[in-house]
Amino acid sequence: MTTDPRPATSPSGLVLPITPLAEPGKEMPVVVRSPRRTKPPKHWIDLSIEERVDAVKEMGLPGFRAKQISEHVFVHHDLDPQNWTDLPKAVRGQVAEAWFPELLTEVSRQSCDNGTTVKTLWRLHGGSLVESVLMHYPATRHNSARTTLCISSQAGCGMACPFCATGQGGIQRNMATSEIVAQVLAADRLLESGAVPGAGRVSNIVFMGMGEPMANYKAVLAAMRTFIAPAPHGIGMSARGITISTVGLIPRIKALTEEGIPATLAVSLHAPDDELRDELIPANKRWKVDALLDAAWEYARTTGRRVSIEYALMRDINDQADRAAVLARQIRRRGDWTWAHVNLIPLNPTPGSRWTASRPEDQDAFVATLERWKIPVTVRDTRGKEIDGACGQLAARGRAEGVGV
Ligand code: SAH
Repeated sequence: MTTDPRPATSPSGLVLPITPLAEPGKEMPVVVRSPRRTKPPKHWIDLSIEERVDAVKEMGLPGFRAKQISEHVFVHHDLDPQNWTDLPKAVRGQVAEAWFPELLTEVSRQSCDNGTTVKTLWRLHGGSLVESVLMHYPATRHNSARTTLCISSQAGCGMACPFCATGQGGIQRNMATSEIVAQVLAADRLLESGAVPGAGRVSNIVFMGMGEPMANYKAVLAAMRTFIAPAPHGIGMSARGITISTVGLIPRIKALTEEGIPATLAVSLHAPDDELRDELIPANKRWKVDALLDAAWEYARTTGRRVSIEYALMRDINDQADRAAVLARQIRRRGDWTWAHVNLIPLNPTPGSRWTASRPEDQDAFVATLERWKIPVTVRDTRGKEIDGACGQLAARGRAEGVGV
């Protein structure tokens, strides 16, 4: 088989190897609009505050019951009306029937890293599988303790990134707001039971599980609003603790900029030049690096929140020091304030993948180049490796083992 010849000099002026990643003709399509199917029935969490009051009134109950129910949900993290002893038994049954369909069924739970990383595999209404990963970081001399939950926003993903196991599995469906939020409620409940010693509540939420959150914008935005709404109508978290990660759907980044929620935007860049990024992130064929970084810069300027540039280091693919310099220039020319922070992720090889993590010396040279340009940079620690809880690997095994569709 022949592969298309690559230009020695690319339009960006980079003279760097670009290895063809997908076999010609084997590329997957990018799917922004996910199939409409098997969403769960509407849940209490999906309703607005006013709709919740209307809902109880329609059941012939006094309006104050709405607040009482929301307290059980968002303050006590209890989604089973049968446990709510301050409601008459008949009312519990009625409420359960009308507004509390089962959202997430636990299929399995695994932990590693001395119990500080917990991955839960969930089955959704209709049979799709998704995962969330809880990571507790005890306090250090420099940082206070934090408990981060990595959540899914879609069953599968339509972005088709060739290095990501989820991306290679295709999209099944969007998740409902209630399904997104229920992952956090379940994690808080688990933490309350003392399952992770030293951890109190979820302090940070990252949309870095399965799915492309910006392709499920409406549900994700409603979930974010529920995370930050004060109790009892929401979880009462700080918007600063929420990170939304995207391959770069520019119109949605612009829409989020307008929302005025001071959450963190993470852009999965992985390459600073269109030639390589077109291959690593197929969505780049539509939304190019320059326009994406402009949108990210605008987000930082408007919200005052530093953008996180995600960059998975792949051996001999995107890890050359020259590319680090191109990345640094791309960031610097948009502003000399530290509007962006680069988060390097050692590639987590997916089963059967032909890429692997960078050599330590290449990673060090990449970091050193960014530091020379005074770009804030960190290398992400890779949690959950032994339980397939690491980036890009979620739920693939569950599907293979026949516990979901
Ligand atoms: N769709 C969103 C969020 C989910 S993925 C996005 O792409 O941003 C979260 C992060 O994990 C992304 O930066 C993604 O590129 C990265 N990732 C996916 N597969 C990976 C792998 N095998 N190794 C390391 N990082 C990976």
